[in-house]
Amino acid sequence: MTQTIRPFKKPIYVTRPLLPDLDVFKRQLEHVWESQWLTNNGHQHQLLEQRIVETLRVPHASLFNNGTIALITACQALGLTGEVITTPFTFAATPHVLAWNNLTPVFCDIDPVTMNIDPSKIEALITPRTSAILAVHVFGHPCDVAAIETIAHRHKLKVIYDAAHAFGAELTVTDETSKKLPTKKGIGTFGDITMFSFHATKLFHSGEGGALTFNDPNLKPYIDLLKNFGIKNEDEVILPGINGKMNEIQAALGLVVLDEVQAERRRRQKILARYHHWLTGVPGIEFTKVPSSVTPSYQYFVIRINKQKFGKSRDEVHSEFKNYNIITRKYFYPLCSQYDCYRDLPSASPAQLPVANTIGQQVLSMPFYGGLSLKSVDKICQILLNLR
Ligand SMILES: *Cc1c(COP(=O)(O)O)cnc(C)c1O
Repeated sequence: MTQTIRPFKKPIYVTRPLLPDLDVFKRQLEHVWESQWLTNNGHQHQLLEQRIVETLRVPHASLFNNGTIALITACQALGLTGEVITTPFTFAATPHVLAWNNLTPVFCDIDPVTMNIDPSKIEALITPRTSAILAVHVFGHPCDVAAIETIAHRHKLKVIYDAAHAFGAELTVTDETSKKLPTKKGIGTFGDITMFSFHATKLFHSGEGGALTFNDPNLKPYIDLLKNFGIKNEDEVILPGINGKMNEIQAALGLVVLDEVQAERRRRQKILARYHHWLTGVPGIEFTKVPSSVTPSYQYFVIRINKQKFGKSRDEVHSEFKNYNIITRKYFYPLCSQYDCYRDLPSASPAQLPVANTIGQQVLSMPFYGGLSLKSVDKICQILLNLR
């Protein structure tokens, strides 16, 4: 049976950047050329920042040259010190941002369903040196924001969310004290500051780029100062800032990509449904279903492979897919707690992180982008099922 399926002629990767029509981008660039203004809060930057506020349904946003510098700046803006509790199941940038701020990452185990930080394990890790929780909405699935808020409140900790995967995700919340109807809230409205990445591999992108979103209006001038060298005016530099500015070419690209995001999401919705059609109920294959309270971002489609039940391990599937020219990714393996720079931390020991270590061996990020045909999804699933 297996031999009858031919490999794909061209490699199929996990993602492909959303590329708008080149003529549309050129027209946008003409505005930039006419203005002769290439960076430093230009017109494109202002337009995009406003549209990000509207699209993400957040009170305030500040654009950045990339998500990592945005997250580094968020730690500075909140004045974090000492230790920050975070997840080992994330991209390298999350703990590295803490290291670049002289903060110690304290790794907390994850929830077996959402794969996000497990709030029930946070409090045991809090010490007098803890200043914040840095949680990640992994693969665009929202964290348990209510539980995290309760803990942060009780221990006077700041909360930062890495929402690099969660562009446009929304959460339906019911305010139990008032008798109001449930309302949808942008994922960027939770915690003190939320970071979004606009890297080319993300659903919405500006080639490279990112943003911070927040509710506190006082943070806006402060964050804008921090990302522009701390320059207050011609005569005054008032703090040691960094260069975190998004330039006009990035912003122009972001503006035209933003127009395509809804259509891309609809395509991905169909692809997701097709994966679910083939893979639901297959023994040893699991994936996180989005609860009805969540509007998903459609950033990734990730499965978990249980070797005992499926018959093949994640690593075997990953390598056998390559024979068919399907290039999947082991997101997130290795765990951040296994990197040489963090493995000696007391919180990094695998014994403390059993769920993350198990899931790190099981996850496989599947091809997932609007340009992927449903026929290709069918073929990828047939190949996977035949591997058993
Ligand atoms: C992409 C990503 C980042 C970093 O964003 P950049 O814009 O590439 O700097 C941070 N955290 C997570 C979880 C990411 O996936």
